[in-house]
Amino acid sequence: MKTLFSELPGIDALLRDARFRPLHTSAGTRRLTETLRAMQSEARQHILAHQRLPDWHADWATEAATRLRAGRRSALRPVINLSGTVLHTNLGRARMSEAAVAAVCRVMRQPVTLEYALDDAARGHRDRALADLLCELTGAEDACIVNNNAAAVLLMLAATAGGRQVIVSRGELVEIGGAFRIPDVMRQAGCHLVEVGTTNRTHFSDYQRAISDETGALMKVHTSNYQIAGFTQAVDEKPLSALGQQHGVPVLVDLGSGSLIDLTHYGLPAEPMPQRLIADGVDLVSFSGDKLLGGPQAGIIVGKKALIARLQQHPLKRALRADKMTLAALEATLQLYRHPEQLADALPTLRLLTRPQAAIQAQAERLLPILQAEFGASFTLAVEPCWSQIGSGSLPVDRLPSAAITFTPRGPASSLAALGQQLRQRARPVIGRLQGGRLWLDLRCLDADEDLQRGGEA
Ligand SMILES: *Cc1c(COP(=O)(O)O)cnc(C)c1O
Repeated sequence: MKTLFSELPGIDALLRDARFRPLHTSAGTRRLTETLRAMQSEARQHILAHQRLPDWHADWATEAATRLRAGRRSALRPVINLSGTVLHTNLGRARMSEAAVAAVCRVMRQPVTLEYALDDAARGHRDRALADLLCELTGAEDACIVNNNAAAVLLMLAATAGGRQVIVSRGELVEIGGAFRIPDVMRQAGCHLVEVGTTNRTHFSDYQRAISDETGALMKVHTSNYQIAGFTQAVDEKPLSALGQQHGVPVLVDLGSGSLIDLTHYGLPAEPMPQRLIADGVDLVSFSGDKLLGGPQAGIIVGKKALIARLQQHPLKRALRADKMTLAALEATLQLYRHPEQLADALPTLRLLTRPQAAIQAQAERLLPILQAEFGASFTLAVEPCWSQIGSGSLPVDRLPSAAITFTPRGPASSLAALGQQLRQRARPVIGRLQGGRLWLDLRCLDADEDLQRGGEA
C-alpha cells in the first residue's frame, strides 16, 4: 500500500506539467490547484479503501479537465420538457418570446429610462410605461407590478385592508402549494379573515350579512388548482362589486393565472379574463406574469387609480418591486397582445398549448424508429395518445390531447428508473414522466426532431 501512495504525483509537479497548461488558462491556477488537491485526497481514500489506485490515475489531466468543466456547468441547465406539463413550475414555467429575450438583453447592456423621464415630466413610478399598456389591454385605470402573484396578493391586502377584516368565501380558501395559503397570506398582510358560506355554497346574502364597519375588503380567489363540482354556488364579481361599492369597501380578486385573450377562440378551455372583471367593477385584480400570460415571473395588479396609488406608496412595494429585466420582458410580452392575430406564433406558451394533436403524433411517428435503434434492446417503444396538462395550477381538470413515445421494460433487467436517469444525463437532459409502469415522453413541447436525436449531443 505504501508503494501505491508513492505513485501519487505531487501537486507542484502537476502544476508545472505542460499537459496542464491549457487548464491554467481556462480555469485559473487557483481552481486548478484546488481540483488537484481534491483529486489527490480522493486517490488516498481510494487506496485505503480498495488497495489500488483509482482508474483515472492513468490520466490526471483529462480527469482534472472533466471535473473543472462540470464545476463550470450552470445550475440552471437547459432541458427538454417532455413531462406533459407545459407550464412546469420546477422547470421555470413560461418560455419567453424572442421579443422578450431581445428586450431583456437590451436593458442588461445599457442604462435605461427605468425611473427617468426624458421629456422632463415627473414620472410617477417604474411601472408607469407598463401600466399604460396594461390599461390599454384591460380597460383598467392603473396598474402595479411586483415580483410574482403571491407578492401581488400580499401587497393588495396589506395596502387596502391592513388591520381590518377581509371577507372570503369558505370555498375559496386556496392553497397554491409552497406554503401559499390564503389564510396565512391574510395574516402576513395584517388582515383578519372572515370566512363566509360553506365549502360548496356561498350566497350573496352571506357577504351581505358579514359586511360591517370593520370590513376592509371583499375578496375572491380563483380556485385555479381544484374544482368544486356538484351542488355548488358562488357569487359573481359583478354583484359583489356592487355590494362593495354600496358600502365603500374595495373588492379584490386574486385571479391566479388569468388570460388576456379568450382562450376558447384557440380551442382551449376558458380561463377568466382580467378585463372582464374590470368591466364588472372589481377594484383590484391580480394575476401572474409567467402562467398563461406567457411572460416573466411577475405579479400584475390592475384596477382603480386611487387604490393603485396606495399600493405604489406602500412600504412593501419597495421590497416587492420588479427589476428592469422583468419589466423589459413583461413589456415585450404585453406588446405581443396588441397583435392578437400573430400571438399564437409569437408567444411560445400559446404556440405549445395550441399545437394540434396530429402534428405531435406525426412527430412521434418520425422519431419512433430513431429512438428504437437506441433503446430497443431493453425497451419496447410505442407511440401512444396522451393528455398534456397546462400546469402551474391553471385549469387542472382540463387536458389537451397529445401524443407520446412510451418505453416499456422488456425484462426485469431493464429498469425505468435507470432509463429516466440516462435521459436526464444527456447533454441536453430530457425530462419525461413515469406512469403505469412505463416512461412517457409527451412530445407537445419538443421544438425540433433533432433535439431528441443522436444521443442528445448539445
Ligand atoms: C399561482 C397562483 C398564485 C401565486 O402566483 P405566483 O405567480 O406563483 O406567485 C396565487 N393565487 C392563485 C389563485 C394562483 O393560481
